[in-house]
Order: sequence, then structure tokens, then C-alpha cells
Amino acid sequence: MNCDKLEQLAEDVRTCTKCRLHKDRIKAVPGEGPTNAEIMFIGEGPGRNEDRAGRPFVGQAGKLLEALLATAGLVRETIFIANVVKCRPPNNRAPRKDEIRECWPYLQKQIKIIQPKIIGTLGNHATETLLGQTGIGRLHGTRHEYEGTVLVPLYHPAAGLYNPDLKQIMSEDLKNLVNEL
Ligand code: URA
Ligand code: SF4
Repeated sequence: MNCDKLEQLAEDVRTCTKCRLHKDRIKAVPGEGPTNAEIMFIGEGPGRNEDRAGRPFVGQAGKLLEALLATAGLVRETIFIANVVKCRPPNNRAPRKDEIRECWPYLQKQIKIIQPKIIGTLGNHATETLLGQTGIGRLHGTRHEYEGTVLVPLYHPAAGLYNPDLKQIMSEDLKNLVNEL
């Protein structure tokens, strides 16, 4: 059962010590959502609140993500939400190349099990990891493929917290993403 495979993977993540990020974490954040989700969102890495909760996007960025999803008629419970690195980088610094490399097999396996119809990469780090391209200002809302699955880079919701003008753009991108289904 795919559900069991995802849970086993989550358990492996919770006890993982493959990179230095395990040292300062409170809880690893494997990701969450339905096994048969049609949409998968991939963020950068857990922040302070996520590290405490062991769940992705539970802080301010998560609240904005949920509000933006609503504008496109989506609810987060239908989406599988994961991150490029599963443990919080200290002081929310960007994840390093070697950390991303060590953690990558977990995300790769999650995608293989879930087989979403659409992957939304949230922000530059997730986009670079899956697409090998940077420049979210240029890439956001454009249609790509990751191993046969539609991939759409999106602004990271945290960007909308600092730049309210982006919220409209993020909402439009999400509506277009829904139309890909
Ligand atoms: N930012 C992320 O990239 N991921 C989270 O889970 C929370 C905030
Ligand atoms: Fe393991 Fe990933 Fe956490 Fe590093 S970030 S310890 S590779 S789960």
C-alpha cells in the first residue's frame, strides 16, 4: 500500500541523521497530505514553527498559502505538501547543496509514490532542485516537466508576506495551475 510506503518514509525521515541539519532540529518535517493527491507543493525547508510542530507550513507563510489556495478554490488538505530539506536550517538560513543532496532521495521517493498530476515548486530553492533553473521572477507560473509530471514554479508564500503586491500574481498562478488538472 502506498499509504504504508509514505508512512515508512516519514518514519525514516524522523530518525534520519544523514546531514548536519539533524543536530539542531526539534522535529523533522516529512510532509503531509493524501497519498493520492493530484497536486504536490514543495517548499524550501521547515521554519521555527514547523520544526516545533513536525508539520509543514504551519506558520505565517502557511496561513498565507492557505488564503491564496482559497482564491483558486483549493484546500490544503487535498494537496501533498513537502519540503526540499526535511529539517530546519539554523536561523532559517538557506539549505546548503550537500544538505539538499542528502535529503533529495526522500523527496524523490515521495513523488514516485504519490505520482501527482502537478508539482508546484515554491520559491527558488525548490525550483532549482527539481528543474535545475533559478530566477523565480522569470519562471513563476510557467509550465515545465519533471520526469513526465507537469511542474509549475511558484513564488514562495513567504515572499507574499514581505511584498503584498505579489499576492495577486501568486493567486493568478494558482488559478492557472488548477486549469492544468
Ligand atoms: N517555508 C517552507 O519552505 N516550508 C515550510 O514548511 C514552512 C515555511
Ligand atoms: Fe536527514 Fe534530510 Fe534531515 Fe538531513 S535534512 S537529517 S538528510 S531528513
